Amino acid sequence: MLQQQNLQKYRKLIEKYNVLPIGWGKDKKAPMLKEWQLNHNLSLEEICSYKDAIALGVTTEDLWVLDVDGDSAVRWARSKGLLDGEFTWEIHRTTSPYYFKRIWKPTLQQRKQIPENQDGLQEFQFKVRTNPSPFLNEAAEFFMAHNRQIIFYGKHWKSGGDYYCPPHRDFEAVREPTDAEFKVLLDELSKRQEKLPRSNNRSHGRDWYTLSFCPICGRSQNDNPVCQMHRDGNTIRCFEGITYHPPENLTPGQVIHENWAFCRSQYVGWGDFSIFVQHNPSPVEKLRRQYYV
Ligand SMILES: [Zn+2]
Repeated sequence: MLQQQNLQKYRKLIEKYNVLPIGWGKDKKAPMLKEWQLNHNLSLEEICSYKDAIALGVTTEDLWVLDVDGDSAVRWARSKGLLDGEFTWEIHRTTSPYYFKRIWKPTLQQRKQIPENQDGLQEFQFKVRTNPSPFLNEAAEFFMAHNRQIIFYGKHWKSGGDYYCPPHRDFEAVREPTDAEFKVLLDELSKRQEKLPRSNNRSHGRDWYTLSFCPICGRSQNDNPVCQMHRDGNTIRCFEGITYHPPENLTPGQVIHENWAFCRSQYVGWGDFSIFVQHNPSPVEKLRRQYYV
């Protein structure tokens, strides 16, 4: 349970932002109220009345968050100059030095430069994969969105660790990004403006349907779904996008994610897809899997 006396220093933040009690979900990282995306203006006292809350989160409609996941992501962010300069808000956790967030508050002028997303909002969320291995999910994630929240205080339940801000990098240190930092964001953003045709102009044919979740690249309902499954259930066309894409440099016949064999690439007039077919293991392989997987 959250102790009110420990949270006095967040009073200002709670007054100004949409601060949420955290504790729902499998990993206890979800806000404990429905429609948390709307600003409920909870007070410190109200937040502390949530008995099972283990942490505090805040929505990020006007905060630019750089979420660094893994040591390759640390190196990437450093190489872009995003980890240097004057202090700003940082959220670390005691259980892993390679997973942390750095946060800026863009000026109105800067926010005007953010292109509109599919919903017509000047918000963004995307990942830069920083490790080429398809088996490692290391990435630098960028987001600023009303429907995202970050945890800044309390327990990281899964690892048993605590969230903390290093000295001089508490929320009060949050600053506007420098021109150089903001340019990194705009450059990455422009690379990710995928020029997909409107969905009704894509030729599907009757035999293909669009996957709401692609098992090859992980693109899902909210990521401009475009990967397709054949009605036979055995063939997937996975779009070679920028944020989401199948592993690169596969050789025909190579099996990934247990049972999808790469066939070839296919250009369909506006983009490239990788074609995968369900891999039918040989009897020997089935036996081997039975014993070793
Ligand atoms: Zn895909």
